[in-house]
Amino acid sequence: MSSTKVRNDSGDTQRLDAAANKSKLLKENSVRIIDIEFNARDVISAISDDIGKGNILGCVKTAGQWIVTLKNADDAELLQQTGLQIGNDMCTVMGVSRSVLRVSLFNVPTYVSDAELSDKLMEYGCRILSPWTRKYYYEFPAIENGTRFIRLELPSNAKSLPYAIVINGNHLRLKHNGQSRVCNNCLSEEHLMRSCPQYLVPYVDNKATRNRGVLQSSVSAVSALGTKVLIVQIKLLIALSQMREKPLKNQWRSKLARMTIHN
Ligand SMILES: [Zn+2]
Repeated sequence: MSSTKVRNDSGDTQRLDAAANKSKLLKENSVRIIDIEFNARDVISAISDDIGKGNILGCVKTAGQWIVTLKNADDAELLQQTGLQIGNDMCTVMGVSRSVLRVSLFNVPTYVSDAELSDKLMEYGCRILSPWTRKYYYEFPAIENGTRFIRLELPSNAKSLPYAIVINGNHLRLKHNGQSRVCNNCLSEEHLMRSCPQYLVPYVDNKATRNRGVLQSSVSAVSALGTKVLIVQIKLLIALSQMREKPLKNQWRSKLARMTIHN
């Protein structure tokens, strides 16, 4: 009698574990899309065009966004990398529990090694999922143009990478889908680097850095440095707005190929 009971308990535990595992997997295969008055039919048919209707398990609207659960992790990653066109709207697709991104870096001097770039991204907590691809001039196919891209997973506590990173004293422009303004140091959305607690504290004994921190955190301080930072930010915004592109609705493979060519 008692042995039967023990077996039942253990069976229940296994069932619970299996259910929890399945739920975790389904969450990893889920993506979210901000709702702008779409109906379920629009969302489903747009995703069907890219990955096929048979690969969609659920499409649920909650708290202003659509949570779409897919059969395959690959499809969830792909939609995040390419975005989704619903009607005339190009939508950003984000992961629910994990964000897999295709990240492009621009203005990378040829002498900067791929490993240096990976190290910087891993410092942020990113998990690298592919080798770097380097781009070349169309007219000069043997000469690099400074653009490189990679596939990675964001750390779970981050929603975005910054618009620029500094490596070896080089300011590199960084771009991915669904990007937002975050701290260049710790990826927090709550503050920018000039007021990052993790940035200023380790350098309190360094006078030059402390002065720079004070200058940068003073919003009203009109300094040469502040003006320069502002100009760089405005240039970045202009460049980013010019870079938006409109992938085709059909055939996600050609969409991905197109993005690869353009970057
Ligand atoms: Zn920070």
